[in-house]
Amino acid sequence: MAGEATAGLTLTTPLLFEQGSQGRSGASIPSLDVPECDPEASFGELLRDEPAPLPEVSEPELFRHYVRLSRQNFAIDLGLYPLGSCTMKYNPKVNEWAARLPGFAGLHPMAPSSMIQGALRLMWRLERGLAEICGMDRVSLHPAAGAQGEFAGLMMIRAWHQDQGRSPKKVLIPDTAHGTNPASCALNGLEAVPFPVGGDGTVRAEQLAPFVDDQVAALMITNPNTVGLFETELATICTMVHDKGGLVYGDGANLNALMGRARPGDFGIDVMQFNLHKTFTTPHGGGGPGCGPIAYKSRLEPYAPTPVVQQGEDGAFVLEENRPKSIGRLRSFHGNFGMMVRAYAYLREMGSDGLRQATERAVLNANYLRAALSETWDTPYNTVCMHEVVISDKHLRPHHVTTMDIAKRLMDYGFHPPTVYFPLVVKGAMLIEPTETENKQSLDLFVDAMRSIDEEARTDPETVTHAPHLTRLRRLDETRAARNPVLRWKPPSDS
Ligand SMILES: *Cc1c(COP(=O)(O)O)cnc(C)c1O
Repeated sequence: MAGEATAGLTLTTPLLFEQGSQGRSGASIPSLDVPECDPEASFGELLRDEPAPLPEVSEPELFRHYVRLSRQNFAIDLGLYPLGSCTMKYNPKVNEWAARLPGFAGLHPMAPSSMIQGALRLMWRLERGLAEICGMDRVSLHPAAGAQGEFAGLMMIRAWHQDQGRSPKKVLIPDTAHGTNPASCALNGLEAVPFPVGGDGTVRAEQLAPFVDDQVAALMITNPNTVGLFETELATICTMVHDKGGLVYGDGANLNALMGRARPGDFGIDVMQFNLHKTFTTPHGGGGPGCGPIAYKSRLEPYAPTPVVQQGEDGAFVLEENRPKSIGRLRSFHGNFGMMVRAYAYLREMGSDGLRQATERAVLNANYLRAALSETWDTPYNTVCMHEVVISDKHLRPHHVTTMDIAKRLMDYGFHPPTVYFPLVVKGAMLIEPTETENKQSLDLFVDAMRSIDEEARTDPETVTHAPHLTRLRRLDETRAARNPVLRWKPPSDS
């Protein structure tokens, strides 16, 4: 790995990625005490000519490799991670205990319903809990991410229109929306029609009105929106769309600002997704298995993904598959069940009072940062915000210091950068979401860091424009990393 920045770091371990040597092993398998099978007879042409050239490593080598990689990364368990819109809150470790209970973790996905009543009961209770929190009738736990939830919700909306012999194509999306919104439209063969938000950063009914006609399949809206503001006209807006025969999709990624205080279903939302890895403390990303349930009003129930968990009159739970109007199956088996266990553990640990407090503290923390940062930084919407606040690099442009430089410099101060250059409506945006996890001390440290960076940008801009100085790698070619990612280990070519 060329071009590594090692300044300030004491590297006590080798930097090698390639590990191991032929014949080394991390497992001790007992010797065979049954007759050996004939691989030719059992596997025939599926049999490899040669063993796969995999790295052969000992257990300590394997562990050091992954722990070393983890130390080159940043994590919510290390410090403030104010990545706006992503709700990087602390994941309570009791969730992991629950998900690892052998009765859950060891379930076979093909086990018949009669043998997995406990798991189905958990899914049922999670569904009821989520439905209550957002004021909707039913929930499908099937989608594997927020974006797949959006995709599924729009598919249900399309199926609902088709069932009435209509096929409107337009989906209205405010220009502050997350990129997954138009992508979910495109995947459904629908046309995303952007419309501008008002000067105060929110959707104004008056401005939206000219866009709403009978060709509108749906409005897709995020509340609070991606500049962290509550959509005060949402109820009126929903009625407007409903009056023309359209439905309203609610992007539920920002539920951390509403939980226990306001319910999307009560505003008039017809279907929405949850991002369990945001609001409900299941682990984020890593490309791993996620869960983005969708909640819907009963008129959309016939189109919900299958299987659907139902409780029979005898109290027993069944998985219903036979639903002729369903949009079908989105995931293998029952979705990512381990995430459901974690989210359910969180719901039970918090209770309704705890969830409300989490929301209130998340909003309080964001407003604390807004008030403190607005002393130095440009705050385009400096009114009471919800769970996140947007600032920009406007006042540093004369010094040729940009949002990207500030984000990189924050890493030297030990913070994960905020979301940058999003929302697109604010030039040089930094979207900061502290979540309820942080206490006053850690918020103050962040404000201090931002104050120091502002000072550096004016007096010693090179320190900022050449940051980060303390990370393992410096500035990466992000375009190349996105376009030509290397996602698979390959054996060295000489072997
Ligand atoms: C995170 C997010 C999404 C997408 O959710 P994923 O779970 O990452 O697929 C959609 N909309 C908004 C506003 C988000 O913040």
